[in-house]
Amino acid sequence: MSTVTAYAAPSPTEPLTKNTITRREVGPHDVAFDIHFSGICHSDIHTVRDEWGRATYPLVPGHEIAGVVTQVGAEVTKFRVGDRVGVGCFVDSCRECAQCRAGEEQYCAKGMIGTYNAVGRDGEPTQGGYSGAIVVDENYVLRIPDGLRLDAAAPLLCAGITLYSPLRHWNAGPGTRVAIVGLGGLGHMGVKLAHAMGAHVTVLSQSLKKMEDGLRLGADEYYATSDPETFTKLRGSFDLILNTVSANLDLAGYLGLLKLDGTLVELGMPENPMSVPAGALIFGRRRIAGSLIGGIAETQEMLDFCAQHGVLPEIEVIKPDYINEAYERVLASDVRYRFVIDTESLRA
Ligand code: NAP
Ligand code: ZN
Ligand code: ZN
Repeated sequence: MSTVTAYAAPSPTEPLTKNTITRREVGPHDVAFDIHFSGICHSDIHTVRDEWGRATYPLVPGHEIAGVVTQVGAEVTKFRVGDRVGVGCFVDSCRECAQCRAGEEQYCAKGMIGTYNAVGRDGEPTQGGYSGAIVVDENYVLRIPDGLRLDAAAPLLCAGITLYSPLRHWNAGPGTRVAIVGLGGLGHMGVKLAHAMGAHVTVLSQSLKKMEDGLRLGADEYYATSDPETFTKLRGSFDLILNTVSANLDLAGYLGLLKLDGTLVELGMPENPMSVPAGALIFGRRRIAGSLIGGIAETQEMLDFCAQHGVLPEIEVIKPDYINEAYERVLASDVRYRFVIDTESLRA
């Protein structure tokens, strides 16, 4: 066992503070790596504040982790000391169910083992990336391509794959019209990825404040959802709407923006349920769907795609003592567009 410094939430209502956690011995199939950067995902905040109702404390969040390998177990074949690697939202799964065998471990029948706020195979609580180092089974570790900086690669491990997977699943590309709702961490990756895939991209944001950014990131059009005109003007426009908003929305209005047979994919996970009138689906044979991150193979594919197409998140690198302030700024939609913690001081 080793001891590492981490930032942990002691309870749903207290700020995160510096703490010490342990990491397991490096087993035969394990990779140990120094964490260099860890992104702040809105899911970290939902979890820390116990909005999803299953948090255990102390809780070290962080599932957008990038670093450099320091040790590998005797049986490890995929990684060597010095490799640049990443870990996303899960660190294990049953490996036997149909989904695991199909490379969709995030939908494991027995439940994926989350990078934090879960219980690992060793029976110990898992703790995430706001820390100096981590030990993970090699099958759940990603390789970060040479062309990607570690700080910018970190958010790809959740925000990147969460948008890449539904864009691929619903065949976004030339000739398709995609709308991204919410220009935050997830949303801005959606704009970049959908644009790189050749789709026509529209941002639906609360206001026009970030319009210049949105167009620079690759959007073809940009509208404010606070303007009721938006919903009449864009009626029946989109093949695919990806909703990344972390709060409840009036989904019926957004469903009306879909073409016949269009799909609205729910990616945001607000605390409370949202209601949908049946008519919003029936007229136009519209669909509402959900999508959860992506499997290991698809995450690797996404990293390689981003390296090849130069798709990188826009980040603001912070020191760990700024985490609590960063949380407030994320909650105020004041993030451009992902906070990434430089964990150097946690490694010392
Ligand atoms: P974020 O950076 O805070 O972005 C969310 C965006 O939603 C904000 O930037 C804002 O965009 C918009 N928004 C916020 N409050 C709103 C409100 N009251 N009304 C309308 N729009 C609002 O968060 P994130 O890290 O991208 O995560 C977004 C959501 O996805 C969270 O719920 C998170 O838990 C979830 N998530 C899901 C998955 C998955 O696998 N499905 C993976 C990761 C995260 P504008 O300022 O442009 O309006
Ligand atoms: Zn996340
Ligand atoms: Zn499984």
